[in-house]
Amino acid sequence: MSFSDLGLSPELLRSIEDAGYTTPTPIQEQAIPQVLMGRDVLGVAQTGTGKTAGFTLPMIEIMGKGRAKARMPRSLILEPTRELAAQVSESFEKYGKHHKLNMALLIGGVSFAEQEKKIDRGVDVLIATPGRLLDHFSRGKILLQDVKILVIDEADRMLDMGFIPDIERIVAVLPKIRQTLFFSATMAPEIRRLADKFLMNPKEISVAKQSSTADTVAQNLVIVDQKMKREALRALIRSENVKNAFIFCNRKRDIGTLQKSLTQHGFSAVALHGDMSQPARTETLAKFKNNEVSLLVCSDVAARGLDVQAVSHVFNFDVPSSAEDYVHRIGRTGRAGMTGRAYTIATPEDAKYVSAIESLIGKPIPRIGVEGVDTEDLDTSDSGKRRRGGRKGAKPAEQPRDEAAAPAEDAKPGRRERKPRPERNAEQVVEQTVEQPVEQSAEHYAEAEAPARTDKPSRNRRGGRGSDRAPRENQMPAAQAESQTSRPQRSPISGNRSWSDAENDRSRRSESDDDGPNNVIGFGDDIPAFLQRPVKLKQSA
Ligand code: AMP
Repeated sequence: MSFSDLGLSPELLRSIEDAGYTTPTPIQEQAIPQVLMGRDVLGVAQTGTGKTAGFTLPMIEIMGKGRAKARMPRSLILEPTRELAAQVSESFEKYGKHHKLNMALLIGGVSFAEQEKKIDRGVDVLIATPGRLLDHFSRGKILLQDVKILVIDEADRMLDMGFIPDIERIVAVLPKIRQTLFFSATMAPEIRRLADKFLMNPKEISVAKQSSTADTVAQNLVIVDQKMKREALRALIRSENVKNAFIFCNRKRDIGTLQKSLTQHGFSAVALHGDMSQPARTETLAKFKNNEVSLLVCSDVAARGLDVQAVSHVFNFDVPSSAEDYVHRIGRTGRAGMTGRAYTIATPEDAKYVSAIESLIGKPIPRIGVEGVDTEDLDTSDSGKRRRGGRKGAKPAEQPRDEAAAPAEDAKPGRRERKPRPERNAEQVVEQTVEQPVEQSAEHYAEAEAPARTDKPSRNRRGGRGSDRAPRENQMPAAQAESQTSRPQRSPISGNRSWSDAENDRSRRSESDDDGPNNVIGFGDDIPAFLQRPVKLKQSA
């Protein structure tokens, strides 16, 4: 099938040709005719499948007819991160160059005034992150009753980042009669529930299984002591012909430290995370995309869905606590039919996470050793599993895993075969405090465009009870504090209650959530007055 079979206009076919595309990808082949017919689409597709063109091309076609009124956008695309929103706007510019469409990008970290000016002129395509859109809406600067096409992109990531309540608020003020295109890399039950709520008789298109990792990516696992991770990373980079690489960290605070350390060791590295200002984020990304620097140390949120051509390597400096994140991370390489390599650096305490990844991708990740760094084994004992949760005093692993002992499938010069792990007894084991684990919940909030403003505590998959939750004080999103000061107090969407009312409720609820003994607060000698008041006890009959 060729693009000309999809019902696109000659102008669009020209833009497609200019972009150098010869054949549509499977998602484009299936989605474009459906969107042109005006049908709702539920697309299960990861980034890298060409899904952006799958919705932008037919949207340009449809939006090419008609004009927008001031402050009333005709279509709306919701993206979870600023970078993704910017990337989608670049696609519109690329494919829409032969059309006269007005487009506006509403993302945080950029002045409101400029954005307002654009909205005032009337926009055909509005690309926004949920927080900034709600900010404009609550200031009365934008009216959403003329939106004819709504795109919710990366719905699973929206869920992870606690954006679903925001999305629900936005959808509630859109016209009921509209076309909705909903994309998600995975179709968890909660995503399905949303799809059922937002879409009308959608055409379901699925182009990749959620667990699939591309065959074009060679994967390896290196297991080392926590203290040896940086050395292992450096050794891996040196032993490989790294053209450019994403290096993923779980914690935001580790990103800067690792980037500095790599720079001190002579590597060309930059950092990308959500605490950086928007101009700094844009500049960093541009440097990496233009090959001015070769290593990008980043978090999942910052790097999610970024389309950087021909990335030769992905290094997981930390094992992600969500197996799906592993699939996304390593999907940054081996794109568009090229080959790539993905290395994951694990510590013995990561056994649980490695095994979750292996069961998701349906195969073991071949273990390898690195030059000059002692290789460890995953600690599959119960105490080992707990250790990543911050407990001390775990016993060393007694038996190496069978597959861990196997030689690397694709051992290359520069790497050495694993040596059997020497027997250690308990006295030899130096008790080591393992750093508190994954603070992704907090990180996702802090990196997010805006917090989930909800009356219910957001239970995202990573931040929910029973998972590796961030410490309680971290659960209050960093962005939230900022947005509370800048945001108007009353939201037209949430009725008479203000954002801060909702947040106060939330933090109050959070304080009263009973997580067991850790929640008990000792007052010492400073007993508050209300506790000293005599309490009348009801006498039982
Ligand atoms: P996406 O999944 O939308 O992030 O797209 C991934 C990459 O595929 C982008 O760099 C697009 O420019 C590229 N791409 C999209 N459609 C095609 C196509 N039909 N042929 C070749 N490359 C494409």
